[in-house]
Amino acid sequence: MVHAHGVRKHFGKLEVLKGIDLTVERGQVCCLLGPSGSGKSTFLRCINHLEKIDGGTLAVEGELVGYRRRGARLHELREKEIAAHRRDIGMVFQRFNLFPHLTAEQNVMEAPVRVSGTSTPDARAEARQLLEKVGLADRAGHYPAQLSGGQQQRVAIARALAMKPKLMLFDEPTSALDPELVGDVLDVMRQLAADGMTMVVVTHEIGFAREVGDTAVFMDDGVVVEAGDPRHVLVAPEQERTRAFLSKVL
Ligand code: ATP
Ligand code: MG
Repeated sequence: MVHAHGVRKHFGKLEVLKGIDLTVERGQVCCLLGPSGSGKSTFLRCINHLEKIDGGTLAVEGELVGYRRRGARLHELREKEIAAHRRDIGMVFQRFNLFPHLTAEQNVMEAPVRVSGTSTPDARAEARQLLEKVGLADRAGHYPAQLSGGQQQRVAIARALAMKPKLMLFDEPTSALDPELVGDVLDVMRQLAADGMTMVVVTHEIGFAREVGDTAVFMDDGVVVEAGDPRHVLVAPEQERTRAFLSKVL
């Protein structure tokens, strides 16, 4: 589903991704860990067309991110094409980014109605189902300000799912939450994984990564230091850098 080979990205002189190799198969959950500034968010943003890569290849579902092959030539995608690709990818950020003036249900309905042309009744029915799935059936009419952080984050997940993505990207979805609210959000993600969603999750929730992750990838300073079975990478890492990091977050 996601194939990265030697992905490079720099901002000016700052090399942020220095050749990332990473594969996520369909239906797998890949947990991405690493110190602040190691390039985790940048890598997710590259997958989602929010940043352009400067080197290597990055493909989602066999399609190069940002480019279209015509014969032997690569052409940069146009805005419209990028928007179409991005629709297949759901993203959930650390901050919930809900529309404050819309209710939970309206937040979830917004993109299907506006972007996909779904009828309002169909989008509403779908939104209700999704809110039920994330445990918020009784909060459909609430505005973000009337919801806890964990509830807002679950609405954000439902909103991403409303576009029926093939791939979900999570960038530290629980790190802005009070500890007692983290569990509900992780439960929703766990359920999503069990339903077969392909997911790339930046998280420092080691327990979640160990239980739910099919692979764990430890990044440091723009490279993948160690990747593989979470029970190895997160329990008995081979690399000193991974060990040092884990000893800090555990
Ligand atoms: P954190 O755990 O703190 O979220 P991260 O691993 O997600 O860190 P990134 O956000 O990918 O790290 O940032 C990697 C490096 O790239 C940082 O040094 C950051 O300052 C830099 N960077 C990210 N985005 C930009 C940008 N748009 N312009 C310039 N530098 C950037
Ligand atoms: Mg980040």
